[in-house]
Amino acid sequence: AKYVYDFTEGNRNLKDLLGGKGANLAEMTNLGLPVPPGFTITADACRHYLAEGSLPDGLEQEVAGHLAALESTMGRKLGQADDPLLVSVRSGAKFSMPGMMETVLNIGLNDESVHGLAKQAGGNDRFAWDSYRRLIQMFGKTVLDIDGDLFEGALDRLKGRRQDTDLDAGELQQLVETYKGIVREQTGADFPADPREQMRLAVMAVFDSWNAPRAILYRRQERIPADLGTAVNIMAMVFGNYGDDSGTGVAFTRDPGSGQQGIYGDYLQNAQGEDVVAGIRNTIPLQDLERIDPSSYRELLAIMETLENHYRDLCDIEFTIERGKLWMLQTRVGKRTAAAAFRIATQLVDQGLITMDEAVTRVTGDQLAQLMFPRFDGGAEKKKIAKGMNASPGAAVGKAVFSSERAVELAEQGEDVILVRRETNPDDLAGMIAARGILTSRGGKTSHAAVVARGMGKTCVCGAEELEVLPAERRFVAPGGVEVSEGEVISIDGRTGEVFLGEVPVVPSAVVEYFEGAAEPADDLVKAVDRIMRHADGVRRLGVRANADTPDDAARARRFGAQGIGLCRTEHMFLGERRQLVEDLVLATTDEERQAALDALEPLQKSDFIGIFQAMDGVPVTIRLIDPPLHEFLPDLVELSIKAATQEATGKDRRLLSAVKRLHEQNPMLGLRGVRLGLVIPGLFAMQVKAIAQAAAEVPGARPEIMIPLVAAVQELESVREEAVKILAEAGVEALIGTMIEVPRAALTAGQIAEAAEFFSFGTNDLTQMAWGFSRDDVESSFFHRYLDLGIFGVSPFESIDREGVGRLIEIAVAEGRAARPDLHLGICGEHGGDPDSVHFCHDVGLDYVSCSPFRIPVARLEAGRAAL
Ligand code: PEP
Ligand code: MG
Repeated sequence: AKYVYDFTEGNRNLKDLLGGKGANLAEMTNLGLPVPPGFTITADACRHYLAEGSLPDGLEQEVAGHLAALESTMGRKLGQADDPLLVSVRSGAKFSMPGMMETVLNIGLNDESVHGLAKQAGGNDRFAWDSYRRLIQMFGKTVLDIDGDLFEGALDRLKGRRQDTDLDAGELQQLVETYKGIVREQTGADFPADPREQMRLAVMAVFDSWNAPRAILYRRQERIPADLGTAVNIMAMVFGNYGDDSGTGVAFTRDPGSGQQGIYGDYLQNAQGEDVVAGIRNTIPLQDLERIDPSSYRELLAIMETLENHYRDLCDIEFTIERGKLWMLQTRVGKRTAAAAFRIATQLVDQGLITMDEAVTRVTGDQLAQLMFPRFDGGAEKKKIAKGMNASPGAAVGKAVFSSERAVELAEQGEDVILVRRETNPDDLAGMIAARGILTSRGGKTSHAAVVARGMGKTCVCGAEELEVLPAERRFVAPGGVEVSEGEVISIDGRTGEVFLGEVPVVPSAVVEYFEGAAEPADDLVKAVDRIMRHADGVRRLGVRANADTPDDAARARRFGAQGIGLCRTEHMFLGERRQLVEDLVLATTDEERQAALDALEPLQKSDFIGIFQAMDGVPVTIRLIDPPLHEFLPDLVELSIKAATQEATGKDRRLLSAVKRLHEQNPMLGLRGVRLGLVIPGLFAMQVKAIAQAAAEVPGARPEIMIPLVAAVQELESVREEAVKILAEAGVEALIGTMIEVPRAALTAGQIAEAAEFFSFGTNDLTQMAWGFSRDDVESSFFHRYLDLGIFGVSPFESIDREGVGRLIEIAVAEGRAARPDLHLGICGEHGGDPDSVHFCHDVGLDYVSCSPFRIPVARLEAGRAAL
């Protein structure tokens, strides 16, 4: 096997093998851009190492060969005492995981080569010692696992109130000695001086960092598979820390926050690597580079244009300027906010770079869902206390907390919190996930907090420099002496960067108003959404219906683009005041009593259906006959027992108690519900069908479809169907009669069931419950956490369809159902109908429609379009 690729050998399509960074470094190399030479160790090698605990055979020789080639290109050897080649060792997985894995710079330095480096730099001792202390610090932390604060602390003590750039060569040399002491003390061994040993250990540390807790957490959050492993890039060092004619920066080809075209980035003079994103010193806007180094600036802009045209998308880049010479260290198609994604996709269409089909694939249902979040009420009274950068949009309100742990703690107690930090680092990830929003006082739009928050779709305001954040004291101080301590409520606006004291009321998003039809597409974001949605609707094959039980929900669903109702849960119509009537029905001991209770319910049901038929105005409405376990309608057994034992208990209370006892079930979800209830309580389903028929007769154009729940055997369906057909014929109303497929046996006998059903709708909530044997009401809050940790699944099967198991049942039912009845109409109405991955699955297996809650309808429309492309 080949485990090592020179940058000249790869290309951007090899991300599986070379990781995103390696593949794109190769792509840039082949575009003729100034990339320092180097090579990539594949993710295959990492997977082998993680599985076997050792490097694959032959890897070390292969690396040695590539290193020799690199040395000959550079005309110097790794760590050579009088004129050293230094390299960086950087992680790079297939999917970018910003800051989650390790990087070590300046490999090859030791007590001898540090002098060679100074000579190479024209006698620049300061630079050489600065590079050396950085090596020990990074290597110590990431490879040797030493607490990074020990190094930070030593640096802070040395510099006092000065900046790191104010330290002179002598002081840095002294710092190197201190650092070496820390290494000796913490590991019991000297800092490894052998350059090749440094490189070998760094490579393994990068591999190991794939399984660092924060990387695991990040992958779970972003649904990145746990077994991909990371590639490692080894590249000749270029130095941004030579002096003021050098520096390092990050840039975006457009604003990743808004999507506006322009120059966005941060630059830091006389700095290296992570300094920019770590917020060590405050960066300057990229525009200022024009003044500092006009020729590098012009070259950078030209390269940015080349990259955008080549990738046909927004790119982000990392670059270094070494004594006036520009070097590209990384590029990738950049993360962006949801709003930027929609704007950029349509801008690129207008520039002729991509087609509308491609534009639809450039945005996701999750991004659309984010644009449907509410925002702060512009008219509300607000007390603004600071303004930072609008790093990631949204409107977040919560109690201020000052550490990741506290954020997690309070969120677990159900509190909304805003995580307030000076700057965040990868260790804050758990707190960022737990918080409603993130506020930092330092760092720009490319800081860790900003990048990660954007990726998660979480509201973030960063670099609010007027705030003095005091994490140890759990408070911050805003201008004018305003103090906010832990637990006090603040509101942050990720669109404007504003920070407010107290709770600011929120209003619906402009995108929702557009979907509601309340607003014409006015601003450019809504226009972009409108264009993309129209195109998605034009290309999608899947229909989109709504799960709605009330005329209001039905009407909203229609405005959001629903082409029908896929699930109207009639049991929801039996709650509230009508519960009494259900009690009467259950308590009935004679046919007369039962009929009286049903007669009382019928007109109420009829008027419910009339409302829904009117709201849906001629599109299909799938009405499911009553489903849930009866005990949900009856008083609680314990309460009732207590009441029955008291003096005031009536005869009815006692009768009710004995009925409740009689109906009590150990496993109600597997008990008397759905079609079973219809077969056991005479007249119940007939009453519902009558109400449907009469309502349909009164609303012109009504298109009812009657759906029987929880069928497991065709015989159940046949007997209900017979009665329903009779009632419909008497009323002179036409309606399809079909069934849910939500019991595994139904899926496995779909051929038989299709004989008695004109349509199937997959009830994937129950189908998942019964296929896995997971109680849908219990497991997510009890042990799924552990299952996710163990990687048994990457996402709850109740959230996204388990293709292998539940999906297989669906495939069988689709194939056998259609074989028995070629015009069988097929849909899904479980919660999965609004989940992006599941929508793609439904497209793939050839369903006719998905049905989901009204607010998910735009998401399902968009994803159905993406699935078709
Ligand atoms: C289902 O089981 O997927 C379904 C839609 O029915 P309910 O959630 O009402 O059980
Ligand atoms: Mg169900």
